Amino acid sequence: MIVNNYGGRLGRIIKKYPKVACEKCGKYQVQIVSYLEGDPQYRCRKCKHNFSLPFEDLPVEDFVMKSIEERLELIKEHTLSPKAKEELWKELDEYLLESDDKDN
Ligand SMILES: [Zn+2]
Repeated sequence: MIVNNYGGRLGRIIKKYPKVACEKCGKYQVQIVSYLEGDPQYRCRKCKHNFSLPFEDLPVEDFVMKSIEERLELIKEHTLSPKAKEELWKELDEYLLESDDKDN
């Protein structure tokens, strides 16, 4: 198994869909041909059928309502939209600055 060597978005897609069967012929000889954005696209090596599976980036609205700790947990489990990431880093910067102040 090489699945665990994948990081980032591809890793999370594979975690959600560890074994993908062709929706037309049912064979597992399916390769992922697109995963960087939107729903991942697959292509069957047997019958050449192309299809996609639903995969959502976490909406920023859900994300900004949560605490830093909850966000860090979410990052491990979900793909974040660029906007959500931006919000997270902003919050983390402020959080870290506050921690520095407490140390001094
Ligand atoms: Zn097929």
